[in-house]
Amino acid sequence: MSSAPLETSASPHQALPVLDWTHRLTQLGSRFFTPLHPTPLAAPCWAARNNDLRTELGWPDELFDDEHLQAFAGNAMMVGSQPLATVYSGHQFGQWAGQLGDGRAIWLGEAQSAQGPQEIQLKGAGRTPYSRGGDGRAVLRSSIREFLCSEAMHGLGIPTTRALCLVASPEPVRRETIETAAIVARVAPSFLRFGHFEHFSAQGDTDSLRSLADHAISHHLPECKSRAALWQGNVYAALLDEVQERTARLLAQWQAVGFCHGVMNTDNMSFLGLTIDYGPFQFMDGFDPGHICNHSDHQGRYAYGRQPNVAYWNLYCLAQALAPLIDDHDMTLQVLEGYKTMFPRFLGDAIRAKLGLTGALASESAREADWTLVEDLMQILAFERTDYTLFWRRFSEAVAAGKADMDCHASRAMTDTEFPVTASEAWQSMDDLFIDRARWQAWLARYVERTVPAQWPAMGQQMLRTNPKFVLRNHLAEIAIRQAQAGDFSEIETLHNLLKSPFDEHPGMQAYAALPPDWAGQLEISCSS
Ligand code: AMP
Ligand code: MG
Repeated sequence: MSSAPLETSASPHQALPVLDWTHRLTQLGSRFFTPLHPTPLAAPCWAARNNDLRTELGWPDELFDDEHLQAFAGNAMMVGSQPLATVYSGHQFGQWAGQLGDGRAIWLGEAQSAQGPQEIQLKGAGRTPYSRGGDGRAVLRSSIREFLCSEAMHGLGIPTTRALCLVASPEPVRRETIETAAIVARVAPSFLRFGHFEHFSAQGDTDSLRSLADHAISHHLPECKSRAALWQGNVYAALLDEVQERTARLLAQWQAVGFCHGVMNTDNMSFLGLTIDYGPFQFMDGFDPGHICNHSDHQGRYAYGRQPNVAYWNLYCLAQALAPLIDDHDMTLQVLEGYKTMFPRFLGDAIRAKLGLTGALASESAREADWTLVEDLMQILAFERTDYTLFWRRFSEAVAAGKADMDCHASRAMTDTEFPVTASEAWQSMDDLFIDRARWQAWLARYVERTVPAQWPAMGQQMLRTNPKFVLRNHLAEIAIRQAQAGDFSEIETLHNLLKSPFDEHPGMQAYAALPPDWAGQLEISCSS
Protein backbone atom coordinates (compact mmCIF):
# COMPACT_ATOMS: atom_id res chain seq x y z
CA MET A 1 0.00 0.00 0.00
CA SER A 2 1.28 3.45 -0.82
CA SER A 3 1.15 6.42 1.51
CA ALA A 4 -2.31 7.86 1.99
CA PRO A 5 -1.95 11.64 1.72
CA LEU A 6 -5.65 12.39 1.91
CA GLU A 7 -6.05 10.37 5.03
CA THR A 8 -2.91 11.54 6.76
CA SER A 9 -2.66 15.13 5.58
CA ALA A 10 -2.41 17.73 8.31
CA SER A 11 -3.94 20.56 6.31
CA PRO A 12 -7.49 21.39 7.47
CA HIS A 13 -8.90 21.35 3.93
CA GLN A 14 -7.62 17.85 3.28
CA ALA A 15 -8.34 16.51 6.73
CA LEU A 16 -12.03 17.27 6.33
CA PRO A 17 -13.85 14.47 4.61
CA VAL A 18 -15.11 15.77 1.27
CA LEU A 19 -17.90 13.20 1.27
CA ASP A 20 -20.26 12.24 4.03
CA TRP A 21 -19.92 8.47 4.22
CA THR A 22 -22.56 6.01 5.43
CA HIS A 23 -21.41 2.47 4.41
CA ARG A 24 -24.66 0.59 5.09
CA LEU A 25 -23.40 -2.42 3.10
CA THR A 26 -20.68 -3.11 5.66
CA GLN A 27 -23.35 -3.77 8.29
CA LEU A 28 -24.00 -7.06 6.50
CA GLY A 29 -20.77 -8.39 8.01
CA SER A 30 -17.63 -10.11 6.92
CA ARG A 31 -19.23 -13.02 5.02
CA PHE A 32 -20.20 -10.56 2.31
CA PHE A 33 -16.85 -8.97 1.52
CA THR A 34 -13.13 -8.70 2.11
CA PRO A 35 -11.73 -5.34 3.28
CA LEU A 36 -8.67 -4.40 1.22
CA HIS A 37 -6.92 -1.46 -0.38
CA PRO A 38 -6.66 -0.66 -4.06
CA THR A 39 -3.29 -1.37 -5.68
CA PRO A 40 -1.45 1.87 -6.51
CA LEU A 41 -1.45 2.93 -10.14
CA ALA A 42 1.64 4.55 -11.65
CA ALA A 43 1.63 8.15 -12.92
CA PRO A 44 -2.14 8.65 -13.10
CA CYS A 45 -3.76 11.49 -15.03
CA TRP A 46 -7.35 12.56 -15.56
CA ALA A 47 -8.86 11.25 -18.78
CA ALA A 48 -12.37 12.49 -17.96
CA ARG A 49 -14.18 14.21 -15.12
CA ASN A 50 -17.96 14.18 -15.05
CA ASN A 51 -18.81 17.55 -13.54
CA ASP A 52 -22.48 17.13 -14.45
CA LEU A 53 -22.78 14.03 -12.29
CA ARG A 54 -20.69 15.55 -9.50
CA THR A 55 -22.99 18.59 -9.46
CA GLU A 56 -26.16 16.45 -9.67
CA LEU A 57 -24.97 14.57 -6.61
CA GLY A 58 -24.10 17.80 -4.80
CA TRP A 59 -20.49 16.69 -4.36
CA PRO A 60 -17.86 19.46 -4.10
CA ASP A 61 -15.36 20.35 -6.83
CA GLU A 62 -12.46 19.33 -4.56
CA LEU A 63 -13.39 15.80 -5.56
CA PHE A 64 -11.68 16.47 -8.87
CA ASP A 65 -8.54 18.16 -7.55
CA ASP A 66 -5.04 16.71 -7.78
CA GLU A 67 -5.23 15.10 -4.34
CA HIS A 68 -8.32 13.21 -5.35
CA LEU A 69 -6.73 12.14 -8.60
CA GLN A 70 -4.47 10.04 -6.38
CA ALA A 71 -7.49 8.68 -4.51
CA PHE A 72 -9.30 7.70 -7.72
CA ALA A 73 -6.09 6.04 -8.90
CA GLY A 74 -5.93 3.97 -5.72
CA ASN A 75 -2.76 5.73 -4.52
CA ALA A 76 -4.40 7.49 -1.58
CA MET A 77 -7.44 6.95 0.58
CA MET A 78 -10.34 9.35 0.80
CA VAL A 79 -10.94 10.19 4.41
CA GLY A 80 -13.82 8.05 5.63
CA SER A 81 -13.81 5.51 2.82
CA GLN A 82 -13.78 1.78 3.72
CA PRO A 83 -12.52 -0.08 0.69
CA LEU A 84 -13.61 -3.67 0.15
CA ALA A 85 -14.43 -6.26 -2.50
CA THR A 86 -17.73 -8.17 -2.33
CA VAL A 87 -18.27 -11.85 -3.03
CA TYR A 88 -20.86 -13.12 -5.48
CA SER A 89 -21.42 -16.13 -7.74
CA GLY A 90 -23.35 -16.55 -10.94
CA HIS A 91 -24.36 -18.31 -14.12
CA GLN A 92 -22.13 -17.48 -17.07
CA PHE A 93 -23.24 -18.38 -20.60
CA GLY A 94 -25.91 -20.67 -19.18
CA GLN A 95 -23.63 -22.60 -16.80
CA TRP A 96 -23.22 -22.35 -13.05
CA ALA A 97 -19.81 -20.69 -12.64
CA GLY A 98 -19.54 -20.92 -8.85
CA GLN A 99 -17.86 -18.17 -6.89
CA LEU A 100 -16.87 -15.02 -8.75
CA GLY A 101 -16.90 -11.69 -6.90
CA ASP A 102 -15.43 -8.25 -7.42
CA GLY A 103 -12.25 -9.34 -9.16
CA ARG A 104 -11.17 -5.86 -10.12
CA ALA A 105 -13.81 -3.45 -8.82
CA ILE A 106 -13.04 -2.08 -5.36
CA TRP A 107 -15.89 -0.57 -3.36
CA LEU A 108 -14.84 2.65 -1.63
CA GLY A 109 -18.03 3.05 0.34
CA GLU A 110 -21.41 4.69 0.32
CA ALA A 111 -21.69 8.46 0.53
CA GLN A 112 -24.62 10.82 1.01
CA SER A 113 -25.62 12.79 -2.06
CA ALA A 114 -28.36 15.08 -3.28
CA GLN A 115 -29.84 11.95 -4.91
CA GLY A 116 -29.70 9.80 -1.79
CA PRO A 117 -26.87 7.51 -0.70
CA GLN A 118 -24.56 6.44 -3.53
CA GLU A 119 -21.94 3.71 -3.59
CA ILE A 120 -18.63 4.39 -5.31
CA GLN A 121 -16.49 1.70 -6.97
CA LEU A 122 -13.11 1.88 -8.63
CA LYS A 123 -13.16 -0.54 -11.57
CA GLY A 124 -9.66 -1.74 -12.41
CA ALA A 125 -8.13 -0.90 -9.01
CA GLY A 126 -6.10 -4.08 -8.62
CA ARG A 127 -6.35 -7.70 -7.54
CA THR A 128 -8.74 -8.95 -4.90
CA PRO A 129 -9.34 -12.41 -3.39
CA TYR A 130 -11.91 -12.85 -6.19
CA SER A 131 -9.61 -12.11 -9.13
CA ARG A 132 -9.22 -15.83 -10.07
CA GLY A 133 -5.94 -15.37 -11.92
CA GLY A 134 -6.92 -12.04 -13.45
CA ASP A 135 -4.71 -9.01 -13.00
CA GLY A 136 -7.37 -6.83 -11.38
CA ARG A 137 -6.91 -4.18 -14.02
CA ALA A 138 -9.03 -2.67 -16.78
CA VAL A 139 -7.52 -1.32 -19.99
CA LEU A 140 -8.00 2.25 -21.18
CA ARG A 141 -10.00 1.07 -24.19
CA SER A 142 -12.73 -0.65 -22.18
CA SER A 143 -12.71 2.03 -19.48
CA ILE A 144 -13.44 4.74 -22.07
CA ARG A 145 -16.28 2.60 -23.40
CA GLU A 146 -17.73 2.14 -19.90
CA PHE A 147 -17.39 5.83 -19.04
CA LEU A 148 -19.07 7.00 -22.24
CA CYS A 149 -21.77 4.36 -22.41
CA SER A 150 -22.83 4.85 -18.79
CA GLU A 151 -23.43 8.51 -19.50
CA ALA A 152 -24.95 7.85 -22.94
CA MET A 153 -27.48 5.48 -21.36
CA HIS A 154 -28.29 8.04 -18.70
CA GLY A 155 -28.79 10.65 -21.43
CA LEU A 156 -31.22 8.27 -23.13
CA GLY A 157 -33.18 7.93 -19.89
CA ILE A 158 -32.17 4.27 -19.42
CA PRO A 159 -31.35 3.16 -15.86
CA THR A 160 -27.61 2.61 -15.47
CA THR A 161 -24.67 2.78 -13.12
CA ARG A 162 -23.04 6.18 -13.64
CA ALA A 163 -19.45 7.16 -14.38
CA LEU A 164 -17.92 9.84 -12.17
CA CYS A 165 -14.41 10.02 -13.60
CA LEU A 166 -11.81 8.18 -15.59
CA VAL A 167 -8.13 7.98 -14.66
CA ALA A 168 -5.50 6.84 -17.17
CA SER A 169 -1.98 5.55 -16.53
CA PRO A 170 1.02 4.45 -18.57
CA GLU A 171 1.12 1.22 -16.54
CA PRO A 172 1.22 -1.71 -18.99
CA VAL A 173 -1.52 -4.35 -18.97
CA ARG A 174 -1.31 -7.55 -20.97
CA ARG A 175 -4.33 -8.56 -23.05
CA GLU A 176 -4.06 -9.82 -26.66
CA THR A 177 -1.43 -7.08 -26.92
CA ILE A 178 0.17 -4.86 -24.30
CA GLU A 179 -2.20 -2.01 -23.47
CA THR A 180 -2.32 0.54 -20.64
CA ALA A 181 -4.34 0.58 -17.43
CA ALA A 182 -7.18 2.89 -16.45
CA ILE A 183 -9.73 3.12 -13.66
CA VAL A 184 -13.37 4.19 -13.95
CA ALA A 185 -14.93 5.49 -10.76
CA ARG A 186 -18.54 4.40 -11.03
CA VAL A 187 -21.49 5.35 -8.90
CA ALA A 188 -24.83 3.65 -8.16
CA PRO A 189 -27.25 3.40 -5.26
CA SER A 190 -26.16 -0.25 -5.07
CA PHE A 191 -23.91 -2.53 -7.09
CA LEU A 192 -25.61 -5.73 -5.85
CA ARG A 193 -26.27 -8.27 -8.59
CA PHE A 194 -28.47 -11.35 -8.97
CA GLY A 195 -25.21 -13.22 -8.33
CA HIS A 196 -24.93 -11.93 -4.77
CA PHE A 197 -28.21 -13.68 -3.91
CA GLU A 198 -27.21 -16.79 -5.85
CA HIS A 199 -23.96 -16.99 -3.90
CA PHE A 200 -25.47 -17.35 -0.43
CA SER A 201 -28.32 -19.50 -1.68
CA ALA A 202 -25.93 -21.93 -3.36
CA GLN A 203 -23.97 -22.19 -0.13
CA GLY A 204 -27.14 -23.08 1.75
CA ASP A 205 -26.52 -20.04 3.96
CA THR A 206 -30.13 -18.95 4.37
CA ASP A 207 -29.35 -16.57 7.23
CA SER A 208 -26.97 -14.56 5.07
CA LEU A 209 -29.39 -14.74 2.15
CA ARG A 210 -32.12 -13.31 4.37
CA SER A 211 -29.81 -10.55 5.68
CA LEU A 212 -28.98 -9.62 2.09
CA ALA A 213 -32.62 -9.60 0.97
CA ASP A 214 -33.62 -7.56 4.02
CA HIS A 215 -30.79 -5.09 3.30
CA ALA A 216 -31.96 -4.83 -0.32
CA ILE A 217 -35.55 -4.22 0.71
CA SER A 218 -35.08 -1.83 3.61
CA HIS A 219 -32.33 0.31 2.05
CA HIS A 220 -33.06 0.14 -1.67
CA LEU A 221 -36.50 -1.25 -2.48
CA PRO A 222 -38.79 -0.30 0.43
CA GLU A 223 -41.73 -0.41 -2.02
CA CYS A 224 -41.57 -4.22 -1.66
CA LYS A 225 -43.22 -3.86 1.73
CA SER A 226 -46.44 -2.52 0.19
CA ARG A 227 -46.10 -4.77 -2.85
CA ALA A 228 -46.18 -7.77 -0.47
CA ALA A 229 -49.95 -7.22 -0.22
CA LEU A 230 -50.17 -8.69 -3.74
CA TRP A 231 -48.40 -11.81 -2.52
CA GLN A 232 -50.18 -12.75 0.70
CA GLY A 233 -47.79 -10.60 2.68
CA ASN A 234 -44.71 -12.43 1.33
CA VAL A 235 -42.12 -9.66 1.08
CA TYR A 236 -39.55 -11.89 -0.66
CA ALA A 237 -42.04 -12.76 -3.41
CA ALA A 238 -42.61 -9.01 -3.68
CA LEU A 239 -38.83 -8.52 -3.98
CA LEU A 240 -38.68 -10.96 -6.89
CA ASP A 241 -41.69 -9.27 -8.47
CA GLU A 242 -40.14 -5.80 -8.09
CA VAL A 243 -36.77 -6.87 -9.53
CA GLN A 244 -38.63 -8.62 -12.35
CA GLU A 245 -40.62 -5.51 -13.22
CA ARG A 246 -37.49 -3.34 -13.22
CA THR A 247 -35.69 -5.89 -15.39
CA ALA A 248 -38.61 -6.08 -17.83
CA ARG A 249 -38.70 -2.28 -18.10
CA LEU A 250 -34.93 -2.16 -18.64
CA LEU A 251 -35.03 -4.81 -21.35
CA ALA A 252 -37.85 -3.00 -23.15
CA GLN A 253 -35.69 0.14 -23.15
CA TRP A 254 -32.62 -1.73 -24.40
CA GLN A 255 -34.58 -3.34 -27.23
CA ALA A 256 -36.27 -0.09 -28.19
CA VAL A 257 -32.99 1.80 -28.53
CA GLY A 258 -31.16 -1.13 -30.18
CA PHE A 259 -28.73 -1.77 -27.33
CA CYS A 260 -26.96 -5.12 -27.03
CA HIS A 261 -25.33 -5.75 -23.65
CA GLY A 262 -23.14 -8.62 -24.80
CA VAL A 263 -22.59 -10.50 -21.50
CA MET A 264 -25.92 -10.97 -19.76
CA ASN A 265 -24.59 -13.39 -17.17
CA THR A 266 -26.46 -13.38 -13.86
CA ASP A 267 -23.48 -11.68 -12.20
CA ASN A 268 -23.96 -8.78 -14.62
CA MET A 269 -27.63 -8.24 -13.70
CA SER A 270 -28.41 -5.48 -11.21
CA PHE A 271 -31.23 -6.10 -8.72
CA LEU A 272 -32.15 -2.42 -9.17
CA GLY A 273 -32.71 -2.95 -12.89
CA LEU A 274 -29.68 -0.84 -13.84
CA THR A 275 -27.52 -1.46 -16.86
CA ILE A 276 -24.28 -2.67 -15.29
CA ASP A 277 -20.84 -3.93 -16.38
CA TYR A 278 -20.24 -2.46 -19.79
CA GLY A 279 -18.09 -4.86 -21.79
CA PRO A 280 -18.60 -5.79 -25.44
CA PHE A 281 -21.90 -3.83 -25.68
CA GLN A 282 -23.07 -2.26 -28.92
CA PHE A 283 -25.76 0.01 -30.22
CA MET A 284 -26.79 -1.78 -33.39
CA ASP A 285 -26.04 -0.12 -36.69
CA GLY A 286 -28.06 -2.07 -39.29
CA PHE A 287 -31.11 -3.71 -37.70
CA ASP A 288 -30.59 -7.44 -37.23
CA PRO A 289 -32.44 -9.38 -34.53
CA GLY A 290 -29.65 -12.01 -34.60
CA HIS A 291 -26.91 -9.44 -34.08
CA ILE A 292 -24.12 -10.66 -31.75
CA CYS A 293 -21.94 -7.88 -30.40
CA ASN A 294 -19.62 -10.03 -28.27
CA HIS A 295 -16.93 -11.58 -30.41
CA SER A 296 -16.46 -14.37 -27.81
CA ASP A 297 -20.17 -15.31 -27.84
CA HIS A 298 -19.87 -18.05 -30.46
CA GLN A 299 -23.35 -19.49 -29.88
CA GLY A 300 -25.06 -16.10 -30.01
CA ARG A 301 -26.58 -16.68 -26.58
CA TYR A 302 -26.67 -12.93 -25.99
CA ALA A 303 -27.74 -11.88 -29.49
CA TYR A 304 -29.93 -8.76 -29.56
CA GLY A 305 -33.18 -10.61 -30.20
CA ARG A 306 -32.53 -13.10 -27.39
CA GLN A 307 -31.92 -10.54 -24.66
CA PRO A 308 -35.50 -10.45 -23.32
CA ASN A 309 -35.58 -14.26 -22.98
CA VAL A 310 -32.15 -14.34 -21.38
CA ALA A 311 -33.32 -11.77 -18.84
CA TYR A 312 -36.21 -14.11 -18.05
CA TRP A 313 -33.82 -17.05 -17.70
CA ASN A 314 -31.74 -14.93 -15.33
CA LEU A 315 -34.85 -14.05 -13.33
CA TYR A 316 -35.48 -17.80 -12.97
CA CYS A 317 -32.00 -18.09 -11.45
CA LEU A 318 -32.80 -15.27 -9.07
CA ALA A 319 -36.12 -16.92 -8.20
CA GLN A 320 -34.32 -20.17 -7.48
CA ALA A 321 -31.90 -18.30 -5.24
CA LEU A 322 -34.74 -16.60 -3.35
CA ALA A 323 -36.77 -19.83 -3.09
CA PRO A 324 -35.69 -20.61 0.51
CA LEU A 325 -36.98 -17.19 1.56
CA ILE A 326 -40.20 -17.16 -0.49
CA ASP A 327 -40.81 -20.70 0.73
CA ASP A 328 -43.75 -21.24 -1.62
CA HIS A 329 -43.03 -22.96 -4.92
CA ASP A 330 -46.36 -22.14 -6.57
CA MET A 331 -46.14 -18.50 -5.60
CA THR A 332 -42.61 -18.24 -6.99
CA LEU A 333 -43.79 -19.62 -10.33
CA GLN A 334 -46.77 -17.30 -10.27
CA VAL A 335 -44.48 -14.29 -9.81
CA LEU A 336 -42.36 -15.41 -12.74
CA GLU A 337 -45.44 -15.77 -14.95
CA GLY A 338 -45.79 -11.99 -14.69
CA TYR A 339 -42.85 -11.39 -17.03
CA LYS A 340 -44.76 -12.94 -19.91
CA THR A 341 -47.30 -10.13 -19.90
CA MET A 342 -45.13 -7.38 -18.39
CA PHE A 343 -42.30 -7.42 -20.89
CA PRO A 344 -44.43 -7.43 -24.08
CA ARG A 345 -46.51 -4.58 -22.68
CA PHE A 346 -43.43 -2.47 -21.84
CA LEU A 347 -41.85 -3.20 -25.21
CA GLY A 348 -45.10 -2.54 -27.06
CA ASP A 349 -45.50 0.79 -25.30
CA ALA A 350 -41.87 1.72 -25.99
CA ILE A 351 -42.11 0.97 -29.71
CA ARG A 352 -45.51 2.61 -30.03
CA ALA A 353 -43.95 5.72 -28.49
CA LYS A 354 -41.17 5.56 -31.08
CA LEU A 355 -43.91 5.60 -33.73
CA GLY A 356 -45.67 8.50 -32.05
CA LEU A 357 -48.60 6.30 -31.03
CA THR A 358 -48.78 7.41 -27.43
CA GLY A 359 -52.53 7.77 -26.86
CA ALA A 360 -54.48 5.33 -24.71
CA LEU A 361 -55.75 2.32 -26.63
CA ALA A 362 -59.46 1.61 -26.67
CA SER A 363 -59.12 -2.16 -26.61
CA GLU A 364 -56.84 -5.15 -26.57
CA SER A 365 -57.52 -5.67 -30.27
CA ALA A 366 -56.32 -2.10 -30.99
CA ARG A 367 -53.11 -2.99 -29.10
CA GLU A 368 -52.75 -6.11 -31.21
CA ALA A 369 -53.32 -4.17 -34.42
CA ASP A 370 -50.57 -1.73 -33.43
CA TRP A 371 -48.26 -4.62 -32.63
CA THR A 372 -48.86 -6.11 -36.09
CA LEU A 373 -47.91 -2.75 -37.57
CA VAL A 374 -44.72 -2.77 -35.45
CA GLU A 375 -43.82 -6.35 -36.37
CA ASP A 376 -44.27 -5.72 -40.07
CA LEU A 377 -42.04 -2.67 -39.83
CA MET A 378 -39.39 -4.65 -37.94
CA GLN A 379 -39.46 -7.28 -40.68
CA ILE A 380 -38.76 -4.65 -43.29
CA LEU A 381 -35.91 -3.16 -41.22
CA ALA A 382 -34.43 -6.63 -40.64
CA PHE A 383 -34.77 -7.60 -44.30
CA GLU A 384 -33.06 -4.41 -45.43
CA ARG A 385 -30.63 -4.19 -42.48
CA THR A 386 -31.73 -0.57 -42.24
CA ASP A 387 -29.64 1.55 -39.90
CA TYR A 388 -31.70 1.39 -36.70
CA THR A 389 -30.94 4.80 -35.18
CA LEU A 390 -31.04 6.63 -38.48
CA PHE A 391 -34.37 5.07 -39.41
CA TRP A 392 -36.13 6.22 -36.26
CA ARG A 393 -34.60 9.67 -36.29
CA ARG A 394 -35.38 10.32 -39.95
CA PHE A 395 -38.88 8.97 -39.45
CA SER A 396 -39.37 11.40 -36.54
CA GLU A 397 -37.98 14.21 -38.69
CA ALA A 398 -40.34 13.36 -41.52
CA VAL A 399 -43.42 13.05 -39.32
CA ALA A 400 -42.49 16.38 -37.71
CA ALA A 401 -42.23 17.90 -41.20
CA GLY A 402 -45.80 16.82 -42.00
CA LYS A 403 -47.28 14.69 -44.75
CA ALA A 404 -45.47 15.38 -48.01
CA ASP A 405 -48.38 15.40 -50.45
CA MET A 406 -50.57 17.47 -48.14
CA ASP A 407 -48.20 20.31 -47.69
CA CYS A 408 -45.01 20.29 -49.69
CA HIS A 409 -43.92 23.59 -48.25
CA ALA A 410 -44.41 22.71 -44.60
CA SER A 411 -41.22 23.87 -43.03
CA ARG A 412 -40.00 22.10 -39.98
CA ALA A 413 -40.33 23.49 -36.52
CA MET A 414 -36.61 23.30 -35.97
CA THR A 415 -34.41 25.74 -37.77
CA ASP A 416 -30.96 24.62 -36.68
CA THR A 417 -31.07 21.20 -38.28
CA GLU A 418 -28.81 20.08 -41.07
CA PHE A 419 -31.52 17.70 -42.26
CA PRO A 420 -33.95 18.55 -45.08
CA VAL A 421 -36.34 21.36 -44.28
CA THR A 422 -39.37 20.59 -46.42
CA ALA A 423 -41.72 17.69 -45.88
CA SER A 424 -41.10 16.24 -49.34
CA GLU A 425 -37.33 16.33 -48.79
CA ALA A 426 -37.72 14.70 -45.40
CA TRP A 427 -39.87 11.89 -46.83
CA GLN A 428 -37.47 11.50 -49.73
CA SER A 429 -34.62 10.95 -47.29
CA MET A 430 -36.78 8.24 -45.64
CA ASP A 431 -37.29 6.52 -49.00
CA ASP A 432 -33.54 6.65 -49.54
CA LEU A 433 -33.07 4.26 -46.62
CA PHE A 434 -34.82 1.43 -48.48
CA ILE A 435 -34.08 -0.71 -51.49
CA ASP A 436 -37.60 -2.16 -51.70
CA ARG A 437 -39.38 1.19 -51.64
CA ALA A 438 -42.74 -0.29 -52.63
CA ARG A 439 -42.72 -2.45 -49.50
CA TRP A 440 -41.84 0.55 -47.34
CA GLN A 441 -44.51 2.69 -49.00
CA ALA A 442 -47.11 -0.02 -48.44
CA TRP A 443 -46.26 -0.04 -44.75
CA LEU A 444 -46.34 3.75 -44.65
CA ALA A 445 -49.83 3.77 -46.15
CA ARG A 446 -50.98 1.69 -43.16
CA TYR A 447 -49.30 4.15 -40.80
CA VAL A 448 -51.14 7.02 -42.52
CA GLU A 449 -54.41 5.15 -41.98
CA ARG A 450 -53.63 4.54 -38.33
CA THR A 451 -52.72 8.16 -37.55
CA VAL A 452 -54.15 11.63 -38.12
CA PRO A 453 -51.76 13.40 -40.52
CA ALA A 454 -52.91 16.81 -39.30
CA GLN A 455 -51.39 15.88 -35.94
CA TRP A 456 -48.07 14.79 -37.40
CA PRO A 457 -46.09 17.96 -36.68
CA ALA A 458 -46.89 17.76 -32.96
CA MET A 459 -46.48 13.98 -32.91
CA GLY A 460 -43.15 14.28 -34.69
CA GLN A 461 -41.83 16.70 -32.09
CA GLN A 462 -42.64 14.11 -29.43
CA MET A 463 -40.93 11.42 -31.51
CA LEU A 464 -37.80 13.57 -31.73
CA ARG A 465 -37.72 13.44 -27.91
CA THR A 466 -38.09 9.63 -28.04
CA ASN A 467 -35.79 8.60 -30.90
CA PRO A 468 -32.22 9.77 -30.27
CA LYS A 469 -30.13 11.44 -32.91
CA PHE A 470 -26.89 10.26 -31.29
CA VAL A 471 -25.92 6.90 -29.80
CA LEU A 472 -22.47 5.62 -28.86
CA ARG A 473 -21.79 3.66 -32.00
CA ASN A 474 -18.73 1.40 -31.84
CA HIS A 475 -16.78 3.46 -34.35
CA LEU A 476 -17.35 6.70 -32.40
CA ALA A 477 -15.98 5.08 -29.25
CA GLU A 478 -13.11 3.64 -31.28
CA ILE A 479 -12.07 7.07 -32.56
CA ALA A 480 -12.03 8.44 -28.99
CA ILE A 481 -10.05 5.37 -27.86
CA ARG A 482 -7.39 5.70 -30.57
CA GLN A 483 -6.90 9.38 -29.81
CA ALA A 484 -6.73 8.71 -26.06
CA GLN A 485 -4.18 5.94 -26.61
CA ALA A 486 -2.09 8.60 -28.37
CA GLY A 487 -2.46 10.89 -25.34
CA ASP A 488 -5.34 13.13 -26.47
CA PHE A 489 -8.46 12.76 -24.31
CA SER A 490 -10.46 15.55 -25.94
CA GLU A 491 -12.68 13.27 -28.02
CA ILE A 492 -13.97 11.64 -24.82
CA GLU A 493 -15.25 15.04 -23.72
CA THR A 494 -16.73 15.78 -27.14
CA LEU A 495 -18.65 12.50 -27.12
CA HIS A 496 -19.71 12.92 -23.52
CA ASN A 497 -21.14 16.36 -24.29
CA LEU A 498 -23.01 15.01 -27.28
CA LEU A 499 -24.35 11.85 -25.71
CA LYS A 500 -25.59 13.42 -22.51
CA SER A 501 -28.32 15.11 -24.58
CA PRO A 502 -28.81 12.66 -27.46
CA PHE A 503 -32.22 13.99 -28.50
CA ASP A 504 -30.91 17.51 -29.18
CA GLU A 505 -29.86 18.53 -32.67
CA HIS A 506 -26.30 19.68 -31.78
CA PRO A 507 -25.70 21.86 -34.87
CA GLY A 508 -22.35 21.20 -36.51
CA MET A 509 -22.15 17.63 -35.18
CA GLN A 510 -23.98 15.93 -38.04
CA ALA A 511 -21.07 13.58 -38.74
CA TYR A 512 -21.64 11.91 -35.36
CA ALA A 513 -25.18 10.98 -36.44
CA ALA A 514 -24.17 9.56 -39.81
CA LEU A 515 -23.92 5.96 -41.00
CA PRO A 516 -20.83 4.15 -39.70
CA PRO A 517 -17.79 4.05 -41.99
CA ASP A 518 -16.91 0.75 -43.70
CA TRP A 519 -14.10 0.00 -41.23
CA ALA A 520 -16.63 -0.11 -38.36
CA GLY A 521 -17.77 -3.53 -39.59
CA GLN A 522 -14.30 -4.91 -38.86
CA LEU A 523 -14.27 -3.90 -35.18
CA GLU A 524 -14.18 -6.92 -32.89
CA ILE A 525 -15.18 -6.39 -29.29
CA SER A 526 -14.85 -9.26 -26.84
CA CYS A 527 -14.98 -9.93 -23.08
CA SER A 528 -11.21 -9.46 -22.79
CA SER A 529 -10.88 -5.98 -21.39
P1 AMP B 1 -17.23 -9.72 -16.45
O1 AMP B 1 -17.67 -10.76 -17.44
O2 AMP B 1 -16.33 -8.66 -17.01
O3 AMP B 1 -18.40 -9.14 -15.75
O4 AMP B 1 -16.33 -10.47 -15.36
C1 AMP B 1 -16.65 -11.73 -14.79
C2 AMP B 1 -15.80 -11.96 -13.57
O5 AMP B 1 -14.42 -11.89 -13.89
C3 AMP B 1 -16.01 -10.99 -12.43
O6 AMP B 1 -15.85 -11.69 -11.22
C4 AMP B 1 -14.90 -10.00 -12.64
O7 AMP B 1 -14.56 -9.32 -11.46
C5 AMP B 1 -13.76 -10.90 -13.10
N1 AMP B 1 -12.76 -10.21 -13.90
C6 AMP B 1 -12.89 -9.73 -15.18
N2 AMP B 1 -11.73 -9.18 -15.59
C7 AMP B 1 -10.84 -9.29 -14.58
C8 AMP B 1 -9.48 -8.92 -14.40
N3 AMP B 1 -8.80 -8.30 -15.35
N4 AMP B 1 -8.91 -9.19 -13.22
C9 AMP B 1 -9.58 -9.82 -12.24
N5 AMP B 1 -10.85 -10.22 -12.35
C10 AMP B 1 -11.49 -9.95 -13.50
MG1 MG C 1 -19.19 -8.47 -14.39
